[in-house]
Amino acid sequence: MLDFDTIAAISTPMGEGAIAIVRLSGEEAVSIADRIFKSVSNKSLNEVPSHTIHYGHIVDPKNGQTIEEVMLSIMKGPKTFTREDIIEINCHGGIVSVNRVLQLVLANGARLAEPGEFTKRAFLNGRIDLSQAEAVMDLIRAKTDKAMNVAIGQMEGRLSNLIRRLRQEILETLAHVEVNIDYPEYDDVEEMTHRVLIEKATRVRNEIDNLLQTSQQGKILREGLATVIVGRPNVGKSSLLNSLVQDTKAIVTDIPGTTRDVIEEYVNVRGVPLRLVDTAGIRETEDIVERIGVERSRQYLKEADLILLVLNYNEELTAEDRKLFEAVKGMDYIVIVNKTDLEQKLDMEEVKNLAGSRSVVTTSLLQEQGISELEEAISSLFFMGTIESQDLTYLSNTRHIALLAQAQNAINEAIEGIESGIPIDIVQIDLTRTWELLGEIIGDAVHESLIDQLFSQFCLGK
Ligand code: GDP
Ligand code: ZN
Repeated sequence: MLDFDTIAAISTPMGEGAIAIVRLSGEEAVSIADRIFKSVSNKSLNEVPSHTIHYGHIVDPKNGQTIEEVMLSIMKGPKTFTREDIIEINCHGGIVSVNRVLQLVLANGARLAEPGEFTKRAFLNGRIDLSQAEAVMDLIRAKTDKAMNVAIGQMEGRLSNLIRRLRQEILETLAHVEVNIDYPEYDDVEEMTHRVLIEKATRVRNEIDNLLQTSQQGKILREGLATVIVGRPNVGKSSLLNSLVQDTKAIVTDIPGTTRDVIEEYVNVRGVPLRLVDTAGIRETEDIVERIGVERSRQYLKEADLILLVLNYNEELTAEDRKLFEAVKGMDYIVIVNKTDLEQKLDMEEVKNLAGSRSVVTTSLLQEQGISELEEAISSLFFMGTIESQDLTYLSNTRHIALLAQAQNAINEAIEGIESGIPIDIVQIDLTRTWELLGEIIGDAVHESLIDQLFSQFCLGK
């Protein structure tokens, strides 16, 4: 185990929940805690067994002042998350008192942890590999249950195991290459080598291809489908966002064009995580404030995975509506005809023609009609049965995807090289590169700076 100082941080989200936890990790964790903790049983923390919980008070050793009533857990390494000694102080008194406990811990010898430093230690002490560490980060950010399952699967090492197996195959392949280089005089060795090389390399390539194919789904699960709501002013975009969110964060008004900025919300529609964006509409406008919204709307439209195009049942189709249909051509979109509680003025036949194969859903958001039909349309568009399978190894991390794509290139070059009969030592280079790139996913052969960068993305206290 590496030698580190003792770190501490509040490891529960700020302002959330009634209990806040101050966590310490490191060689001094127990002695620092012992200095400021008075258990009701009067036992020193140095005497109590590991993995036990104690009730007592945090007392400032300087003046004997009681700061907080706590439950304290003691977990001695190496059977802990960081493999170091860990102390967790559960405080009940909200954010002010938890801060005072943290200050006291720091005053007694601990250092404030950097974001992600606990997880970083777990990694550096060999407790978890890099893909698992990243999974911890995904877990913190997971937006839906499904995304959570992907993160948990990854944390348990599913991805790591698969990558390790692929690396092992490449090593075996490289061994064949070595034989060829060491004994070039045996013709049959060379023959055999080519056949085995192609076979093995292709197998690895296919597995990488499969893994990359799941990556889009993984990204969707983790970040949510980028969903943009478009429509002319006043058709009910904000109302739609609100009924999906069942919250009132977007401002609903009677004045056209009052959604001034882009609002993002995460919603879970029958297991499909949506990152919903309400826009100020994409019409031309002279209003500067509104134009910022409009510019950004266009950008969002370009990057959208799903578009919800809203029309007004109570108005005839306008040139602007037709422009919107034009703008979303070729994308995944659903047409929502809103305000069906009002008199029909919209030509539904024309709308269905414009929509082609896309779903057209009618709603009255005011009367809460048609929302479940819309949810049905969204989930059937994106699930089609396939995404439900839980035992797939989804690739959900952007860094993993990038590395895997590079590995895919490298192995393809190796295969092409073998097929076109280029010198075997060049094939060897490509194979070695594939092996290294895969290694970077699980954290073998990564640079210190990369590690620092990764772990700094974590929440404080994790
Ligand atoms: P946006 O400008 O497209 O975001 O439209 P809003 O969501 O702000 O809605 C504009 C107005 O239409 C508000 O007064 C809403 O209450 C109203 N509205 C929204 N949906 C319906 C509906 O289904 N029926 C009726 N009658 N009014 C609606
Ligand atoms: Zn609006």
